[in-house]
Amino acid sequence: MPEPDDLAKALVAEQFSRSDGVLHVGGLDVRTLSDTHGTPLFLYDADLMRRAYRTLAQAVSGFAEVVYSVKANPDPAIIRIFAQEGAGAEIASGAEFAAACAAGVSPDRILFAGPGKSDADIARVVAAGIGEIHLENAEETARVALAAGHQGRTQRVAIRINPGPDAQGGAMRMGGKPSPFGFDEEDLDAVVDAVEAEPHLHLSGIHLFAGTQGLIAGTLLAQWAYGLRLAARVAARIGRRLDTVDLGGGLGIPYFSGDTALDLAALHAGIPVLKELVAGNPNLAGARIVLEPGRYLAGPAGLYVARVRAVKRSRGTRFVITDGGMHHHLAASGNLGQIVKRDYPLVAVVDRPETPRSPCAVVGPLCTPLDMLARAATLPDLAPGDLVAVLQSGAYGLTASPTGFLGHPRPAEILVDGGVATAIGRRDA
Ligand SMILES: *Cc1c(COP(=O)(O)O)cnc(C)c1O
Repeated sequence: MPEPDDLAKALVAEQFSRSDGVLHVGGLDVRTLSDTHGTPLFLYDADLMRRAYRTLAQAVSGFAEVVYSVKANPDPAIIRIFAQEGAGAEIASGAEFAAACAAGVSPDRILFAGPGKSDADIARVVAAGIGEIHLENAEETARVALAAGHQGRTQRVAIRINPGPDAQGGAMRMGGKPSPFGFDEEDLDAVVDAVEAEPHLHLSGIHLFAGTQGLIAGTLLAQWAYGLRLAARVAARIGRRLDTVDLGGGLGIPYFSGDTALDLAALHAGIPVLKELVAGNPNLAGARIVLEPGRYLAGPAGLYVARVRAVKRSRGTRFVITDGGMHHHLAASGNLGQIVKRDYPLVAVVDRPETPRSPCAVVGPLCTPLDMLARAATLPDLAPGDLVAVLQSGAYGLTASPTGFLGHPRPAEILVDGGVATAIGRRDA
């Protein structure tokens, strides 16, 4: 049985460091950063993001290129880190498009997904020369065609496919469910014909995204192989090769005790078979294969740091009450779509190997029992003024949280790069 804090310890050892017991991020002392910038705050390590990008790009090199899914962490300073590594961007709103452009991503390297795109956003990205718009329903096909027609352009589009019941991802069934995203595979031929009939659309690709937080290499590889077969089928129907095959994001990171990190070596070992699948099929050979992870690239690099305000016992349970909570980090509180609420890895910012630890619950300042950062952490004695840090907080953190709930101020977001800490993020209120 893994101990609840095994994962936290392993992550600190692998990604961060301690000096005289004090947690450091990118070589900087988390206590000093917290004093300087105030708590609660998010800290992001640019080097860890680069490392995640490079190791993944390396693992799939020769097969796929890696594009950053902006919704995981949409700050232009974060997008820029990946853009400078050579990554394009996947966006799902006009604001994300603007953020990606501001970060230096060229519009033709941007992909636009999302089930309910607005006319204004469609017009804007078409005018800016976006690389590809992913069509998710028949109305959208018509509206993108109309916008492109109005502007006298031909827009490159991909059909997003909701895979059918036969799609298998390793041992897991991955398809066949109703979904608001994309077109059902069962309707694919008719959808392809409808898109092909639009003179202002150029069908350049397909898009498939089977699900988030995949930790098993074999499952991902099977999903990707399925996507390639679908791409070949579409290419055969239109009588020409597709330019792009977007196999989606969904590469996972460990959050909970017992989670095992995605095995990149196993993923890498499965790549030759996929490359053969592509090379051996004239309808696929030469296509640009795209992966668009968000969580995997940004998640491990972020910490959410909160300061202890009070410590109390209630009927035998130690409660550590902090200034940070679900209003900044909904996912860590277990309220962002989790079915079973389990604790994110959480550590004390000052902790030494010999320090005795005991169980506690870590909660936020909000007046709701939902505001929990950990139900069963194992932490040293803590007093008001001490700091705790939630790990794996670089993706789906602040911008996936209800910051207006209960009217507490927004936290600072600090990017640490080359030993320098820079405030990023929105600074209003
Ligand atoms: C959210 C999203 C992603 C990124 O998902 P991760 O699980 O963070 O990798 C990629 N593509 C699309 C279309 C998305 O909606």
